[in-house]
Amino acid sequence: MIAKHFARSNLFIKSICSSTVQKCALTVGVSVILSLCIGCVSLNTLENAGNSFIKEVGDINIFTDAEELQFGREYVVQHEKQVRLYRDPVVTGYINDLGQLLARHSKRKDIPYIFKVVETKGINAYAIPGGFIYIHLDLIRAAKNESELAAVIGHEIGHIVGQHSMKRLTQIYSVEILKQLILDEDSGKFKKLVADILAAGLLFRYSRDHERESDVYGVRNVYDAGISPEGAVTFFETLRTVQKREPSALEKFLSTHPVPSERVLNVRTQIAGLPLKAGLRTNSARFQQIKRRIR
Ligand SMILES: [Zn+2]
Repeated sequence: MIAKHFARSNLFIKSICSSTVQKCALTVGVSVILSLCIGCVSLNTLENAGNSFIKEVGDINIFTDAEELQFGREYVVQHEKQVRLYRDPVVTGYINDLGQLLARHSKRKDIPYIFKVVETKGINAYAIPGGFIYIHLDLIRAAKNESELAAVIGHEIGHIVGQHSMKRLTQIYSVEILKQLILDEDSGKFKKLVADILAAGLLFRYSRDHERESDVYGVRNVYDAGISPEGAVTFFETLRTVQKREPSALEKFLSTHPVPSERVLNVRTQIAGLPLKAGLRTNSARFQQIKRRIR
C-alpha cells in the first residue's frame, strides 16, 4: 500500500509540477530538501517545508473514486455505531427520493448516493466521502419548505461533487508521505494515523473556498432538478431564527458550515443570474406530509 502511495505521490508531484513554473520550483525545493535531509534534518524543518507544500495542494485530490468509496464505507461503519438512524420508511423514503432527484441533476452522477436520516439532536447535515449524506431529523423539522431542505441536501452533494473531504485528506496525507520518507513508518502506523484523522472529523473542516463552491453547486443542482433555489437564501434566515431561540441547536452545524453574510450575498447573486424557468416548485405534498409526521 505504501509503495502504491509513493508511486502516487510521484504522480501527484508531477501533476503539480506541470501546472506552473512557480509550483515546479517549490516541488524541486521540496525534493532537494528530501534528498539532502535523510537522517540529518529535524522533523520540524520537514514539517515547515510540508506546510508550504500544503498551501499549493489545497485543491488536489490524489484518491481514485474507488478509494474514496472505500474510505467512505469504512467511515460509515464506524460512524453508524455512534448515531441512531431514524427508520420510519415514509420519512426515509421521501428523503431518499428527494436526494436521488438532486443527485441525478448533480455534476457527479457516476457514483451511487445514499441518504439517511439521523435522530441526533440539533440541526445538522453532512456528507461522507463516497456519496453518503446524513440529514438530522431536527433539520427537516426546521426547514420551512421543500426548497429549503433541497438547498441543504444540494449543498452537501456539492461537497461530494467537489471531493472536498478527499482534497482535505490529500493535504494531510501529503505531509505524512513526506514524514514517512524520513521516519520510515510502517503501514500499520500509517493506516492508524489516517483512521485518527477520520475519527477527529478533520475532513469536515471545509475551507471558505470549498463552502463557497458547495453553495454554487447546490444552488445550480436544486434549480436543475426543478426546485426553487430560493430555499438557499431563506434557509439562512431560518437558521437565524433558530439561533435566536435555541443557539445550542446550531452548534454542530455552524462549526462545519459557518454562515458569513458573504455566503448569503453570493447565493442571492447566483440566483439572480439564473435564467428564468417556469414551474420551479417550492413545496410538495410529500414534504408537508412528513413534516406533520415528525412534528
Ligand atoms: Zn458545507
